[in-house]
Amino acid sequence: MLTNDELAKWDRENFMHPSTHLAQFARGEAPQRIVTGGEGCHITDRDGNRLLDGFAGLYCVNVGYGRKQIADAIAKQAHELAYYHAYAGHGSEASITLAKMVMDRAPAGMARVYFGLGGSDANETNVKLVWYYNNILNRPQKKKIISRWRGYHGSGLVTGSLTGLELFHKKFDLPLAQVIHTEAPYYFRRPDAAMSEADFTAHCVERLEALIEAEGADTIAAFIGEPILGTGGIVPPPAGYWEAIQKVLARHDILLIADEVVTGFGRLGTMFGSDHYGMKPDLITCAKGLTSAYAPLSATIVGERMWTVLEQGTDENGVLGHGWTYSAHPIGAAAGIANLELIDELGLVGNAGRVGAYLNRRMAEAVGAHAHVGEVRGEGMLCAVELVADREARRFFDASEGKGAKVVAAMLKRGVIARAMPQGDILGFAPPLCLTEAEADRIVAVTAEALAEVLG
Ligand code: PMP
Repeated sequence: MLTNDELAKWDRENFMHPSTHLAQFARGEAPQRIVTGGEGCHITDRDGNRLLDGFAGLYCVNVGYGRKQIADAIAKQAHELAYYHAYAGHGSEASITLAKMVMDRAPAGMARVYFGLGGSDANETNVKLVWYYNNILNRPQKKKIISRWRGYHGSGLVTGSLTGLELFHKKFDLPLAQVIHTEAPYYFRRPDAAMSEADFTAHCVERLEALIEAEGADTIAAFIGEPILGTGGIVPPPAGYWEAIQKVLARHDILLIADEVVTGFGRLGTMFGSDHYGMKPDLITCAKGLTSAYAPLSATIVGERMWTVLEQGTDENGVLGHGWTYSAHPIGAAAGIANLELIDELGLVGNAGRVGAYLNRRMAEAVGAHAHVGEVRGEGMLCAVELVADREARRFFDASEGKGAKVVAAMLKRGVIARAMPQGDILGFAPPLCLTEAEADRIVAVTAEALAEVLG
């Protein structure tokens, strides 16, 4: 067996990691962790640490680690039929069963589900379907997609463009011209402190209207948004936001894509975030929680309005020229079935709502009054603590100080994983949906200790 040092050296010399400082990692100056196992809400690593995972991997291991039921389903599927494609009407019992289970759980008004591999490719599919739809309707100029600053929708070419974070654009020649961005619904960072939530919602609507006016509604095909901003800072929308935005979209015949990669299958305490916020999307993006990351699988759920047109279009134009080799992969589908069954059996959607509310309440009580905490916010099993240099003035720390990353590192030393969100000093929490109150208490206690260590 390789020693830890040998494995770490192979890692540095051969493996190009995503979202990692390449030079620092190669020099052995960036964090490195070789993960070996997991059970419930904890992971273990080669150095013998047992860590409470307050971010469920990348908010994806929703049922927690080490679920034998899912591992067995994957093994059984691999023995019976590891792979067959889904082109030209082919399927497997697993992929067809999962399609039925997803549609049974989907919000009202949805018609079909298409399966891919991850959130980025699902949003790539969504943009293509939107373009296809408008081509069938003979509206070739209606193609632009509106996204929000701080939205996260993937890191491919079009999906990295949709993502409204600078890190994902700079030095990649993004965003592409077909993607435009509007105001983030981020009340804490509102332009004028005197604005009420309702004022700020009205402001977001005005900004959207102005963008549509400037570009021309006949050039805009769709609006994409996460029900609650995730990677951009874990930010619930201000009151009335989705209702008001949807009115604008309806007036200009603009489709709505709800990116539920994080919120789909229970994270907000409802099966979908669209249910939670009264969204009526035309497309829903799912990934992460669909299989709890036991195998890669994503889903695009297509609403009736689009489905009717797409179905007619293929009669006229022949087959849909879109698909991946691994679309509806049987092993992913088997993992998805076992995962959705487990979510039901364990009542994890309800637990996410209940323990998530407890986590948010306890976090606010424990650190909400700290001199360098500007806001504690969240929804369901999502929570964020936003750090500020000055509470009264809502003044932020200079990014170069890396305060958020320092607090996260101080938490890690104490055995709890939180995420320093990529833009701003924001501590992010998105634990598995099976979190217990005792585990929530530990996350909160360690956050308070780490804050005291780094910021006094
Ligand atoms: N959409 C959202 C809302 C996400 O949070 C993510 C991933 N964090 C993606 C899309 C992209 O998914 P993937 O990383 O699986 O491509």
